[in-house]
Amino acid sequence: MDARTGEDFGTLSLPTMPTEQSALSRAPFLASCPVCGATEASEVITFPELRFGRCAGCGLIYKQEQRPGLGEGYEEKYFRFNRAGYLQRWDHRVRKCRRQLLASLEFAPHARSLLDVGCSAGYVLAAAKSLGLAEMGLDLSEFAVQLCRERGFQAERGSLTQMPFADASFDIVTAKHTLEHVESPMDGLREIHRVLRPGGVAFLVVPDAAYYKIPLMPRRGRSFRPDRRGWQHHVYFYEHNLADACTRVGLTPLKAGKDIFRRRLARGPRAAWEYARYAFLLGWVHGSRVTRMRRELQLISVKPVAAQALPPPQAEPRAAVS
Ligand SMILES: [Zn+2]
Repeated sequence: MDARTGEDFGTLSLPTMPTEQSALSRAPFLASCPVCGATEASEVITFPELRFGRCAGCGLIYKQEQRPGLGEGYEEKYFRFNRAGYLQRWDHRVRKCRRQLLASLEFAPHARSLLDVGCSAGYVLAAAKSLGLAEMGLDLSEFAVQLCRERGFQAERGSLTQMPFADASFDIVTAKHTLEHVESPMDGLREIHRVLRPGGVAFLVVPDAAYYKIPLMPRRGRSFRPDRRGWQHHVYFYEHNLADACTRVGLTPLKAGKDIFRRRLARGPRAAWEYARYAFLLGWVHGSRVTRMRRELQLISVKPVAAQALPPPQAEPRAAVS
Protein backbone atom coordinates (compact mmCIF):
# COMPACT_ATOMS: atom_id res chain seq x y z
CA MET A 1 0.00 0.00 0.00
CA ASP A 2 1.46 3.28 -1.07
CA ALA A 3 0.15 6.02 1.13
CA ARG A 4 1.50 8.86 -0.97
CA THR A 5 0.09 7.86 -4.32
CA GLY A 6 -2.89 5.92 -3.07
CA GLU A 7 -1.81 2.94 -5.12
CA ASP A 8 -3.15 -0.30 -3.86
CA PHE A 9 -0.22 -2.53 -4.41
CA GLY A 10 1.02 -4.44 -1.46
CA THR A 11 4.17 -6.43 -1.15
CA LEU A 12 2.36 -9.61 -2.08
CA SER A 13 4.79 -12.40 -2.63
CA LEU A 14 4.06 -14.55 -5.61
CA PRO A 15 3.72 -18.29 -5.43
CA THR A 16 7.15 -19.86 -5.11
CA MET A 17 8.87 -19.69 -8.44
CA PRO A 18 11.26 -22.31 -9.72
CA THR A 19 14.82 -21.11 -9.47
CA GLU A 20 16.22 -22.94 -12.49
CA GLN A 21 16.57 -20.50 -15.34
CA SER A 22 15.48 -23.16 -17.81
CA ALA A 23 12.04 -23.32 -16.23
CA LEU A 24 11.55 -19.60 -16.67
CA SER A 25 11.41 -19.25 -20.41
CA ARG A 26 9.76 -16.05 -21.54
CA ALA A 27 7.26 -15.71 -24.34
CA PRO A 28 6.56 -12.59 -26.40
CA PHE A 29 4.14 -10.33 -24.56
CA LEU A 30 3.70 -7.08 -26.49
CA ALA A 31 5.21 -7.69 -29.93
CA SER A 32 5.37 -3.97 -30.73
CA CYS A 33 4.81 -0.66 -29.01
CA PRO A 34 1.14 -0.65 -27.99
CA VAL A 35 0.87 3.11 -28.55
CA CYS A 36 2.75 3.92 -31.78
CA GLY A 37 3.21 0.42 -33.20
CA ALA A 38 7.00 0.68 -33.71
CA THR A 39 8.80 -2.67 -33.41
CA GLU A 40 12.27 -1.28 -32.62
CA ALA A 41 13.02 -1.08 -28.90
CA SER A 42 16.06 -0.85 -26.66
CA GLU A 43 16.43 -2.90 -23.52
CA VAL A 44 15.38 -1.38 -20.21
CA ILE A 45 15.64 -4.43 -17.97
CA THR A 46 15.68 -8.19 -18.35
CA PHE A 47 14.78 -10.72 -15.65
CA PRO A 48 14.43 -14.47 -16.12
CA GLU A 49 10.64 -13.98 -15.91
CA LEU A 50 10.13 -10.83 -17.97
CA ARG A 51 11.73 -8.13 -20.08
CA PHE A 52 10.88 -4.45 -20.54
CA GLY A 53 12.01 -2.36 -23.51
CA ARG A 54 11.84 1.26 -24.56
CA CYS A 55 10.10 2.04 -27.85
CA ALA A 56 12.48 3.60 -30.37
CA GLY A 57 9.55 5.50 -31.86
CA CYS A 58 7.85 7.18 -28.91
CA GLY A 59 9.89 6.28 -25.81
CA LEU A 60 7.12 4.26 -24.13
CA ILE A 61 8.42 1.58 -21.77
CA TYR A 62 6.56 -1.67 -22.40
CA LYS A 63 6.75 -5.35 -21.54
CA GLN A 64 8.24 -7.24 -24.44
CA GLU A 65 8.35 -10.71 -22.90
CA GLN A 66 6.88 -12.46 -19.91
CA ARG A 67 6.87 -16.00 -18.59
CA PRO A 68 3.44 -17.43 -19.43
CA GLY A 69 1.19 -17.65 -16.39
CA LEU A 70 3.17 -15.19 -14.28
CA GLY A 71 0.80 -13.70 -11.74
CA GLU A 72 -2.17 -15.84 -12.76
CA GLY A 73 -4.72 -16.51 -10.07
CA TYR A 74 -3.51 -13.70 -7.89
CA GLU A 75 -6.78 -11.82 -7.73
CA GLU A 76 -8.40 -13.42 -4.72
CA LYS A 77 -5.26 -13.57 -2.59
CA TYR A 78 -4.21 -10.10 -3.65
CA PHE A 79 -7.45 -8.42 -2.73
CA ARG A 80 -8.03 -10.29 0.50
CA PHE A 81 -4.45 -9.60 1.48
CA ASN A 82 -5.06 -5.93 0.89
CA ARG A 83 -8.43 -5.71 2.60
CA ALA A 84 -7.05 -3.96 5.68
CA GLY A 85 -5.03 -1.62 3.48
CA TYR A 86 -8.10 -0.75 1.43
CA LEU A 87 -9.96 0.51 4.41
CA GLN A 88 -7.09 2.56 5.82
CA ARG A 89 -7.03 6.30 5.29
CA TRP A 90 -10.52 6.17 3.79
CA ASP A 91 -11.36 9.82 4.46
CA HIS A 92 -8.05 11.07 3.12
CA ARG A 93 -8.43 9.05 -0.08
CA VAL A 94 -12.03 10.12 -0.65
CA ARG A 95 -11.02 13.78 -0.21
CA LYS A 96 -8.26 13.36 -2.77
CA CYS A 97 -10.71 11.76 -5.21
CA ARG A 98 -13.16 14.59 -4.61
CA ARG A 99 -10.54 17.16 -5.59
CA GLN A 100 -9.80 15.19 -8.74
CA LEU A 101 -13.48 14.93 -9.61
CA LEU A 102 -13.98 18.65 -9.05
CA ALA A 103 -11.23 19.26 -11.61
CA SER A 104 -12.98 16.91 -14.07
CA LEU A 105 -16.31 18.64 -13.42
CA GLU A 106 -14.79 21.95 -14.54
CA PHE A 107 -14.87 20.49 -18.04
CA ALA A 108 -18.18 18.64 -17.72
CA PRO A 109 -20.26 20.90 -15.48
CA HIS A 110 -23.49 19.19 -16.53
CA ALA A 111 -22.22 15.71 -15.69
CA ARG A 112 -24.71 13.44 -13.97
CA SER A 113 -22.98 10.08 -14.05
CA LEU A 114 -19.55 8.62 -13.41
CA LEU A 115 -17.86 5.32 -14.09
CA ASP A 116 -14.75 4.40 -12.13
CA VAL A 117 -12.74 1.65 -13.80
CA GLY A 118 -10.70 -0.32 -11.31
CA CYS A 119 -12.88 0.90 -8.46
CA SER A 120 -11.20 -1.22 -5.72
CA ALA A 121 -12.74 -0.24 -2.36
CA GLY A 122 -14.82 2.58 -3.84
CA TYR A 123 -12.99 5.79 -2.94
CA VAL A 124 -13.90 7.45 -6.24
CA LEU A 125 -17.47 6.17 -5.97
CA ALA A 126 -17.83 7.71 -2.51
CA ALA A 127 -16.47 11.03 -3.81
CA ALA A 128 -18.79 10.90 -6.83
CA LYS A 129 -21.83 10.22 -4.69
CA SER A 130 -20.96 13.12 -2.40
CA LEU A 131 -20.90 15.38 -5.46
CA GLY A 132 -24.33 14.24 -6.58
CA LEU A 133 -23.15 12.02 -9.45
CA ALA A 134 -24.75 8.66 -10.18
CA GLU A 135 -21.83 6.34 -9.48
CA MET A 136 -20.85 3.06 -11.11
CA GLY A 137 -17.76 1.04 -10.35
CA LEU A 138 -16.08 -1.60 -12.47
CA ASP A 139 -13.48 -4.02 -11.23
CA LEU A 140 -11.94 -7.28 -12.35
CA SER A 141 -12.11 -8.56 -8.80
CA GLU A 142 -15.36 -10.00 -7.47
CA PHE A 143 -14.05 -9.22 -4.02
CA ALA A 144 -13.70 -5.51 -4.80
CA VAL A 145 -17.15 -5.43 -6.44
CA GLN A 146 -18.72 -7.00 -3.34
CA LEU A 147 -16.84 -4.60 -1.08
CA CYS A 148 -18.25 -1.62 -3.03
CA ARG A 149 -21.78 -3.04 -2.94
CA GLU A 150 -21.51 -3.60 0.82
CA ARG A 151 -20.69 0.07 1.09
CA GLY A 152 -23.80 1.01 -0.88
CA PHE A 153 -22.25 1.74 -4.27
CA GLN A 154 -23.23 0.37 -7.63
CA ALA A 155 -20.50 -1.83 -9.07
CA GLU A 156 -20.11 -4.45 -11.77
CA ARG A 157 -17.46 -7.00 -12.51
CA GLY A 158 -15.58 -6.53 -15.75
CA SER A 159 -12.41 -5.48 -17.50
CA LEU A 160 -11.29 -2.11 -18.79
CA THR A 161 -10.89 -3.63 -22.25
CA GLN A 162 -14.39 -5.18 -22.31
CA MET A 163 -16.87 -3.16 -20.34
CA PRO A 164 -20.42 -4.40 -19.76
CA PHE A 165 -21.93 -0.99 -20.61
CA ALA A 166 -23.67 0.49 -23.65
CA ASP A 167 -22.05 3.17 -25.80
CA ALA A 168 -22.23 6.74 -24.47
CA SER A 169 -23.39 5.72 -20.98
CA PHE A 170 -21.33 8.04 -18.77
CA ASP A 171 -20.41 11.71 -18.47
CA ILE A 172 -17.15 11.07 -16.58
CA VAL A 173 -14.93 8.00 -16.70
CA THR A 174 -12.08 7.74 -14.23
CA ALA A 175 -9.31 5.13 -14.46
CA LYS A 176 -6.71 5.53 -11.75
CA HIS A 177 -3.78 3.14 -11.87
CA THR A 178 -5.70 0.85 -14.19
CA LEU A 179 -4.37 1.46 -17.72
CA GLU A 180 -0.91 0.10 -16.97
CA HIS A 181 -2.43 -3.18 -15.75
CA VAL A 182 -4.18 -4.23 -18.95
CA GLU A 183 -2.44 -6.14 -21.69
CA SER A 184 -3.77 -3.77 -24.33
CA PRO A 185 -3.90 -0.21 -22.97
CA MET A 186 -5.10 1.15 -26.32
CA ASP A 187 -8.12 -1.19 -26.24
CA GLY A 188 -8.77 0.15 -22.74
CA LEU A 189 -8.71 3.74 -23.98
CA ARG A 190 -11.00 2.83 -26.90
CA GLU A 191 -13.48 1.38 -24.42
CA ILE A 192 -13.33 4.54 -22.31
CA HIS A 193 -14.02 6.57 -25.45
CA ARG A 194 -16.91 4.26 -26.36
CA VAL A 195 -18.74 4.43 -23.03
CA LEU A 196 -18.25 8.21 -22.69
CA ARG A 197 -20.99 10.53 -23.89
CA PRO A 198 -19.82 13.13 -26.43
CA GLY A 199 -18.60 16.07 -24.37
CA GLY A 200 -17.75 13.71 -21.52
CA VAL A 201 -14.47 13.69 -19.69
CA ALA A 202 -11.89 10.97 -19.01
CA PHE A 203 -9.65 11.31 -15.95
CA LEU A 204 -6.58 9.08 -16.11
CA VAL A 205 -3.86 8.44 -13.56
CA VAL A 206 -0.83 6.24 -14.32
CA PRO A 207 2.68 5.92 -12.88
CA ASP A 208 5.09 8.49 -14.34
CA ALA A 209 7.85 6.78 -16.32
CA ALA A 210 10.03 9.83 -15.66
CA TYR A 211 9.98 9.20 -11.90
CA TYR A 212 13.64 9.18 -10.88
CA LYS A 213 13.58 5.72 -9.33
CA ILE A 214 12.43 4.02 -12.52
CA PRO A 215 15.62 4.51 -14.57
CA LEU A 216 17.86 4.78 -11.51
CA MET A 217 17.39 1.28 -10.18
CA PRO A 218 15.41 -0.84 -12.60
CA ARG A 219 16.67 -4.07 -11.05
CA ARG A 220 16.15 -3.27 -7.39
CA GLY A 221 13.23 -0.86 -7.62
CA ARG A 222 9.69 -2.15 -7.50
CA SER A 223 8.58 -0.99 -10.94
CA PHE A 224 9.96 -3.89 -12.98
CA ARG A 225 10.75 -6.68 -10.55
CA PRO A 226 8.70 -9.77 -11.32
CA ASP A 227 7.85 -10.20 -7.64
CA ARG A 228 6.75 -6.57 -7.24
CA ARG A 229 5.00 -4.56 -9.96
CA GLY A 230 6.73 -6.07 -12.95
CA TRP A 231 4.11 -8.79 -13.28
CA GLN A 232 1.18 -6.40 -12.84
CA HIS A 233 2.34 -3.48 -14.96
CA HIS A 234 2.72 -3.80 -18.71
CA VAL A 235 3.47 -0.22 -19.74
CA TYR A 236 5.04 2.92 -18.26
CA PHE A 237 3.90 6.16 -19.87
CA TYR A 238 5.74 9.46 -20.12
CA GLU A 239 3.58 12.57 -20.24
CA HIS A 240 3.68 12.78 -24.04
CA ASN A 241 2.94 9.05 -24.46
CA LEU A 242 -0.26 9.30 -22.48
CA ALA A 243 -1.47 12.36 -24.38
CA ASP A 244 -0.54 10.69 -27.68
CA ALA A 245 -2.40 7.51 -26.73
CA CYS A 246 -5.55 9.50 -25.89
CA THR A 247 -5.36 11.43 -29.14
CA ARG A 248 -5.07 8.20 -31.12
CA VAL A 249 -8.43 6.94 -29.80
CA GLY A 250 -10.22 10.26 -30.40
CA LEU A 251 -9.95 11.80 -26.94
CA THR A 252 -8.64 15.37 -26.73
CA PRO A 253 -6.10 15.89 -23.90
CA LEU A 254 -6.61 19.15 -22.02
CA LYS A 255 -4.15 21.55 -20.45
CA ALA A 256 -6.23 21.25 -17.33
CA GLY A 257 -4.26 23.43 -14.93
CA LYS A 258 -4.43 26.66 -16.90
CA ASP A 259 -8.07 26.26 -17.89
CA ILE A 260 -9.21 25.55 -14.36
CA PHE A 261 -7.25 28.56 -13.14
CA ARG A 262 -8.87 30.89 -15.68
CA ARG A 263 -12.36 29.70 -14.82
CA ARG A 264 -11.81 30.02 -11.11
CA LEU A 265 -10.30 33.49 -11.47
CA ALA A 266 -13.45 34.58 -13.26
CA ARG A 267 -15.36 33.95 -10.05
CA GLY A 268 -14.01 37.14 -8.56
CA PRO A 269 -13.82 37.48 -4.79
CA ARG A 270 -11.70 34.40 -4.21
CA ALA A 271 -9.25 35.33 -6.96
CA ALA A 272 -6.37 36.22 -4.63
CA TRP A 273 -6.61 32.87 -2.92
CA GLU A 274 -6.83 31.10 -6.27
CA TYR A 275 -3.72 32.96 -7.47
CA ALA A 276 -1.76 31.81 -4.46
CA ARG A 277 -3.05 28.28 -4.70
CA TYR A 278 -2.36 28.07 -8.40
CA ALA A 279 1.17 29.45 -7.99
CA PHE A 280 1.85 26.81 -5.37
CA LEU A 281 0.42 23.99 -7.48
CA LEU A 282 2.25 25.14 -10.59
CA GLY A 283 5.50 25.34 -8.64
CA TRP A 284 4.95 21.88 -7.25
CA VAL A 285 4.01 20.28 -10.56
CA HIS A 286 6.89 21.87 -12.51
CA GLY A 287 9.33 21.36 -9.67
CA SER A 288 8.52 17.68 -9.33
CA ARG A 289 8.65 17.25 -13.11
CA VAL A 290 12.12 18.79 -13.36
CA THR A 291 13.46 16.91 -10.34
CA ARG A 292 11.72 13.74 -11.55
CA MET A 293 10.08 13.37 -8.17
CA ARG A 294 6.61 13.07 -9.61
CA ARG A 295 5.26 9.57 -9.07
CA GLU A 296 2.13 9.71 -11.15
CA LEU A 297 0.74 11.40 -14.24
CA GLN A 298 -2.77 12.79 -14.30
CA LEU A 299 -4.51 13.62 -17.54
CA ILE A 300 -7.97 14.98 -18.27
CA SER A 301 -9.21 14.38 -21.82
CA VAL A 302 -12.53 15.18 -23.41
CA LYS A 303 -14.52 13.22 -25.97
CA PRO A 304 -15.28 15.87 -28.60
CA VAL A 305 -18.97 16.55 -29.20
CA ALA A 306 -18.37 16.99 -32.92
CA ALA A 307 -16.85 13.54 -33.29
CA GLN A 308 -20.29 11.94 -33.38
CA ALA A 309 -21.66 14.39 -35.91
CA LEU A 310 -18.76 14.22 -38.37
CA PRO A 311 -19.66 12.79 -41.77
CA PRO A 312 -17.70 9.70 -42.82
CA PRO A 313 -14.31 10.65 -44.30
CA GLN A 314 -14.45 11.15 -48.04
CA ALA A 315 -11.58 10.29 -50.29
CA GLU A 316 -10.11 13.42 -51.75
CA PRO A 317 -8.45 13.09 -55.16
CA ARG A 318 -5.50 15.22 -54.03
CA ALA A 319 -4.81 13.07 -50.99
CA ALA A 320 -4.91 9.96 -53.11
CA VAL A 321 -2.12 11.21 -55.37
CA SER A 322 0.46 11.52 -52.61
ZN1 LIG B 1 6.03 3.69 -29.42
